[in-house]
Amino acid sequence: MDAPPPTLKGDELSSTNPATGEVIGSVQVTSTAELDAIVERAWAAYHNSGWKSLLPHRRALVLNAIADGLVAEKEALATLQMKDNGKPLAECRGMVESAIGTFRYYAGVCETLETSVTPQRGDYVSFTVLEPFGVVACITPWNSPIMNDATKVAPALAAGNAVVLKPSEDSPLLAPELARIALAAGLPIDMLQVVQGRGAEIGAALVAHPDVRMVSFTGGTTTGRAIGRVCGTKLIPVALELGGKSPHVVFADADIEHAVAAVVAGIFGSAGQSCVAGSRVMIEESVYDEVLAKIVERTKSLRVLAPDAAGVEVGPLASFHHRERVVAFVNRAREEGGRILCGGEPPTGGDYDRGAYYLPTIIDGLSHASLTCQEEAFGPVLVALPFRDEADLVEKGNGTAFGLACGIWTESFKKAWRVGRALEAGSVWVNTYKQSVTTTPFGGFKNSGIGREKGVDGLRLYAQVKSMYFGLHEQPMPVAR
Ligand code: NAD
Repeated sequence: MDAPPPTLKGDELSSTNPATGEVIGSVQVTSTAELDAIVERAWAAYHNSGWKSLLPHRRALVLNAIADGLVAEKEALATLQMKDNGKPLAECRGMVESAIGTFRYYAGVCETLETSVTPQRGDYVSFTVLEPFGVVACITPWNSPIMNDATKVAPALAAGNAVVLKPSEDSPLLAPELARIALAAGLPIDMLQVVQGRGAEIGAALVAHPDVRMVSFTGGTTTGRAIGRVCGTKLIPVALELGGKSPHVVFADADIEHAVAAVVAGIFGSAGQSCVAGSRVMIEESVYDEVLAKIVERTKSLRVLAPDAAGVEVGPLASFHHRERVVAFVNRAREEGGRILCGGEPPTGGDYDRGAYYLPTIIDGLSHASLTCQEEAFGPVLVALPFRDEADLVEKGNGTAFGLACGIWTESFKKAWRVGRALEAGSVWVNTYKQSVTTTPFGGFKNSGIGREKGVDGLRLYAQVKSMYFGLHEQPMPVAR
């Protein structure tokens, strides 16, 4: 079944459950006139609500109350996200947990963040304080809405800003829930507002709005570049978390069973719709056939089921039009001469015919320069490549425009150190994969982004440093010469 992109009827945007094709809800699209009013209200709240002057340990109380509000609605939120974007329920529960943890963590950062007293060079004391930007725009994609929203909103509020949040038109239902919960938790009204609609329309208008002072974006590289251009012209800071084509490396000396399980989970979890999906498996030549055969065998046994079915391992893609993109990607791989080792088509029959499913797919036999090896599929598509030695691996591993993440399986820590340092990636996982926690910085090299979210610096991203000097002169100041 093919379904059109998200429907905009009049000024309504509907959300379709990709597991069933049913419309599950709708939201009002924000007009540009409404956007002006929203940004104006955000500034009024910023100046008048007392949030920015609230001492950080008091802000922490509200952030913790938001976390409590999320806890109280955990199951309902996970179910809503499952219907909004088709991810297996267990994964959606994990994402709500992650959002809760993020609000609690930034409450802790509020309590503990220190600024510095800088070395004295004259008759004064100098030190730094952090100031919010004012109104910041947070723009998120459809693959993990509640988690991505929390990753931006929690630190942006923690730093004292007012936030205008724009979720994807493909998963519009979670952001309004977060705003409702935040308000009920004691966040002053209008400190978190949501705008809805297509990215090219309301998203672009939000970024270009003259009164938006900072933009934090997660999404595709092309969109990120367009947003970066506008922010460059406006001379406002921008944080960009973008796409990837992450290499997942298996050396001959690896614990092969663990490596195989991780490679399969690393690409087919979330049906491959994860920015850090290990979408290029790179296997040392001497064990290439053996390891690839095990990966294919394990992949064929994955249970592709409805997101709420017991034992589901791979659910549908997030939307029917996204599945069309994956179909086109694999068709192009065929034209490039790729050998499809498994999958390569949507499953058919029964529930499959109602949903946006696509079988986990593995392709080999392609040159590393092929578009299949260079471009992000953002779906359940793994491309396999052999490598000769470390030099060959590093050259190919770094041979795409991206640099988001990589995985390395080896029993040699010295090799892991050398290769981990040589690969251009914002996150390197050695003998593990896809760990990403709120305490640890996350972001990309090269076309995978600018800036780091998460960790203590995830709050500093939303603040500007002010340097203050307190004079200590007993005598009138001399004239500067
Ligand atoms: P997308 O770039 O199409 O859209 C992301 C968001 O930007 C949506 O809310 C969209 O409405 C909005 N948008 C689109 N055009 C815009 C414009 N001109 N101005 C302002 N806003 C605009 O991406 P997507 O298809 O929603 O998500 C998939 C992409 O996101 C993949 O490339 C994936 O790798 C990336 N992603 C990255 C991370 C990360 O942390 N690095 C995490 C998740 C997803």
